[in-house]
Amino acid sequence: MSGLEGLRAIVTGGASGIGLATARLLAERGAAVAVLDLDPSGVPAPLLALKADVCDDASVRAAVDDAADRLGGLDIVVNNAGIGAQGTVEDNPDDEWRRVLDVNVLGMVRTARAALPHLRRSAHAAIVNTCSIAATAGLPQRALYSASKGAVLSLTLAMAADHVREGVRVNCVNPGTADTPWVGRLLDAADDPEAERAALNARQPMGRLVTADEVAEAVVYLASPAAASVTGTALAVDGGMQGL
Ligand code: NAD
Repeated sequence: MSGLEGLRAIVTGGASGIGLATARLLAERGAAVAVLDLDPSGVPAPLLALKADVCDDASVRAAVDDAADRLGGLDIVVNNAGIGAQGTVEDNPDDEWRRVLDVNVLGMVRTARAALPHLRRSAHAAIVNTCSIAATAGLPQRALYSASKGAVLSLTLAMAADHVREGVRVNCVNPGTADTPWVGRLLDAADDPEAERAALNARQPMGRLVTADEVAEAVVYLASPAAASVTGTALAVDGGMQGL
């Protein structure tokens, strides 16, 4: 027994980085897992790969219902799809705010709305949202991204209160800077990616980035029956950055 046998999970944004590490770990621990992603083409077996855009309500509903159908129900939802944004409030135009909030906040709302009818039928229902230390750390040059993750934190607390009596737990993880393709793309865009990576590592209290697998461990704990009494909490996996 690895702990999640018989449970059925979906992971949005599960084709890369933290989402892929989480989907793999959920499957390794015994869950049946569907990945919902804009581009699920590289998702490895035994994960079920479903194409979905969290910005499109019809697409999310169809993919969530399809996943529940093919997995035989739904117990775990990992709301992980997200995109970044850099700059101060003077740098990002309104359209960019709408685009990022649409993915990072409304994407989770749409997925939760589609999944809740299925989750209410589960004896071990859990939602885990991928938030960030940006929600509370006051990071420079991250106004829009921080606001989006601040909303995810508040959404997590409100949903936990709304759904606790229905047997649906809602928590979030707050990763620090995690070594994923997303961060790789940012480093690659620098003039000297190796020097930039060394500087980034040096800024971390532990001298290194958090790994996607370490974040996945926290997500899987919050999603598992081992956390049956845990709801409305944020678990930081930030290598000592102390966003909370
Ligand atoms: P990533 O870019 O490696 O993976 C993100 C995945 O989300 C991709 O597969 C992408 O296709 C998918 N996606 C993007 N928009 C989508 C949409 N509209 N519909 C469906 N799928 C979509 O990123 P990552 O670093 O693994 O980040 C995952 C989550 O972790 C995000 O919510 C991010 O905000 C959060 N996070 C990341 C870090 C970090 O340092 N990497 C830190 C804190 C929080």
